[in-house]
Amino acid sequence: MKITDHIANANGKTLFSFELLPPIKGQSMDGIYKAIDPLMEFKPPFIDVTSSREDLFYKETADGSIQKATYRKRPGTVAVCAAIQHKYKVDTVPHLICGGFTKEETEYALIDLQFLGIDNVLVLRGDARKTDSGFIPTPGGHCYATELLEQVTNMNNGVYLHEYQDTSYKTDFCIGVAAYPEKHFEAPNLKTDFKYLRQKVDGGANFIVTQMFFDNSKFKAFVNQCRENGINVPIIPGLKPITTAKQLINLPKIFHIDIPEDLCDAIHDCKNDKEVKEVGIEWMINQCKELVDFGVPVLHFYTMGNPEPTKRIAQAIF
Ligand code: FAD
Repeated sequence: MKITDHIANANGKTLFSFELLPPIKGQSMDGIYKAIDPLMEFKPPFIDVTSSREDLFYKETADGSIQKATYRKRPGTVAVCAAIQHKYKVDTVPHLICGGFTKEETEYALIDLQFLGIDNVLVLRGDARKTDSGFIPTPGGHCYATELLEQVTNMNNGVYLHEYQDTSYKTDFCIGVAAYPEKHFEAPNLKTDFKYLRQKVDGGANFIVTQMFFDNSKFKAFVNQCRENGINVPIIPGLKPITTAKQLINLPKIFHIDIPEDLCDAIHDCKNDKEVKEVGIEWMINQCKELVDFGVPVLHFYTMGNPEPTKRIAQAIF
């Protein structure tokens, strides 16, 4: 079922969902199931599975020379989605990214998804490779999420690459896109970033999922700006509780978000990460309560494979 239908059927009740990473190459699905099982009692209507592009790795061989290899550390997004859908009878949302995939490979992935009965996709540009200073498009692939979105909407209109037949089957994907209440780090300002978000919605995006944030006022301002400018699709807040003191440095560095002073101060007062986790969970529970009052359709958690903090928050909210 489409995310938009899940939201419509909830009649204003806030839903619970979460996101997982595929297993590292060479690992089994057991870790995924262990990350899902504790959260199923909160009846998520859908679970997201991230995608990643290839990275460059350097390895020293026995003779001392350096070997360069390129591979994807966490392949298998489509298969992980299918496995979850099959085992838990819950919808899945595979993330589709521009980086690392040609348009043809994307088309084949979308055809696989359609055959597997996966109705939703989250289309993204994707992160840069760790060894690159910025995002470098893959030759034959897309540069921006808008272009990938266009490919999916084309297929929803029965338009495929290299058409050779008179008619084509129309897919019916419900399409999500990303947004950044605190601005995407490459955008010169919020207004320009918003202009491209608008393009994504005008181009057919059915729902929005946001980057994590710790200050609800920024999310609310972002939602209000969307509504005032005619963006009326559901906006799903992305959430992640802080669990270690190191994240005070890592989260802003990786995700380009601010951490409110009060939260920072409370974490600085902690003696160890056990205490930090309690502070992080408490902060997130308060954030979630306020977001439910604000009327968000879904609370979407970036679990990063660790379900326990999210479970404690969900217990307090649902
Ligand atoms: P875009 O919408 O393409 O925007 C990228 C930048 O370009 C922005 O600064 C935007 O303002 C600008 N821009 C957009 N269109 C144009 C245009 N036509 N011309 C000029 N500038 C333009 N990354 C992964 O690798 N895998 C994942 O699974 C993943 N999941 C994510 C889930 C969520 C909910 C979020 C918020 C992010 C996720 N990311 C993921 C990270 C994301 O891929 C990065 O933040 C990436 O840098 C931007 O992706 P985007 O889809 O927002 O890009």
